Amino acid sequence: MERRNAWLSYTEEERKELFALSEDYKKFLSAAKTEREFVTESVKAAKKAGYQELGEVIRSGKKLSAGDRVYATWYGKTMAMFVIGTEPMAEGMNILGAHIDSPRLDLKQNPLYEDTDQALLDTHYYGGIKKYQWTAMPLALHGVIAKKDGTSVTVRIGEDPSDPVFMVSDLLPHLGAEQMKKKASEFIEGEDLNVLVGSEPLITGDETDEEKKDKEAVKANILRILEEQYGVEEEDFLSAEIEVVPAGPARDLGFDRSMVIGYGQDDRICAYTSLAAQLMVEHPKRTAVCLLVDKEEIGSVGATGAHSHFFENAVAEVMNCAGQYHSELDVRRAMSYSRMLSSDVSAAYDPNYSSVSEKKNCAYFGRGLVFNKYTGARGKSGSNDASAEYMALMRRIFDESNVAWQTAELGKVDAGGGGTIAYISANYGMNVIDSGIAILNMHAPWEAASKADIYEGRKGYLAFLLYD
Ligand code: MN
Ligand code: MN
Repeated sequence: MERRNAWLSYTEEERKELFALSEDYKKFLSAAKTEREFVTESVKAAKKAGYQELGEVIRSGKKLSAGDRVYATWYGKTMAMFVIGTEPMAEGMNILGAHIDSPRLDLKQNPLYEDTDQALLDTHYYGGIKKYQWTAMPLALHGVIAKKDGTSVTVRIGEDPSDPVFMVSDLLPHLGAEQMKKKASEFIEGEDLNVLVGSEPLITGDETDEEKKDKEAVKANILRILEEQYGVEEEDFLSAEIEVVPAGPARDLGFDRSMVIGYGQDDRICAYTSLAAQLMVEHPKRTAVCLLVDKEEIGSVGATGAHSHFFENAVAEVMNCAGQYHSELDVRRAMSYSRMLSSDVSAAYDPNYSSVSEKKNCAYFGRGLVFNKYTGARGKSGSNDASAEYMALMRRIFDESNVAWQTAELGKVDAGGGGTIAYISANYGMNVIDSGIAILNMHAPWEAASKADIYEGRKGYLAFLLYD
């Protein structure tokens, strides 16, 4: 059961469309390097496409009807978008769900210190990373500093070519003999991921020689810059969320420019293609939904993760605005009769590491959207195992719409494993299957994907949203 390489079937027109989409994707991915930035960019795109903010709809008392577009966000880190269908929502929605958080280094709450004339920021990594991959490369700071007076400062340093960047140092090979004997998991320890941010001491001219020695002048100079340029003081780090991510934009990969290399493609590649598909939906029969969630990489927890009641509450509010909320039962029906694609990335076959894959059941670049009937580890543990009947429906939808697609597992049996948000939505009783785009070196600072798969992803997601 070989699946065809999608590149072989494209017309010149389709190739043009494919490359144009990946240009838009690279721009979006470069602008949206955190969950907050992804929501900000998605809200901009939604408003441009005529989406109304749910809170405003509620306050205005306006009634929603078929064809109306509405979105809701929560704490700026998760978002749900709806196009109201002609059929009652209680008969179920078509939902695309993707996560918009990615592995990274987060600044600790008390991060700034000086060690021997270097100023550094202490971090705690977020999600599953190979720590040694994050050293000796340009890094950027993204996030927000919330001040006691209720205002907040948006941080985005290291992306403009004129910006400074930051770095976690690594040991030179000349002195690395002991380090190189360690296991890769201990090679760089979590506490070694300290970001170098300065080395020039602050000199006011009034210090005595004794004072110059004592006062951590390099750190003082960093604090002076933070005060001058951002109006923040050291204590403000206590209420900040600053993410350290690879600096620089997503780019074309390969002589033939057939791939994209970029940070955070797990899972913003699926989030972006889901968003792009959602924005194309007009007048669906079943209400079309795009759900973007946070915190997947650490267990989908918290008020903005998939376990939160945010989405269910938003559905209740939307149904109420559409005159379709008569009792809680309507919401329960809407949730349980829904269909969902849990849009999350798959591991692409890697010729350098073929031993971890089972070739009949793994994902390949260029062969389209990947369906994972199940995920999990050690005997499918923790997996949402989609039903055979639902998988058959997927075959029908995607074959009818000429979408290139393939099926896969995450690696060989017992090679490892992973999870997604699929099982969480499935708790409502809805049909859910994992389907996403294959990427190389998942969770590395720079991940790679095939442009054909991005194109097939959006095509497939749109077909799913529009299916009756
Ligand atoms: Mn993921
Ligand atoms: Mn992941």
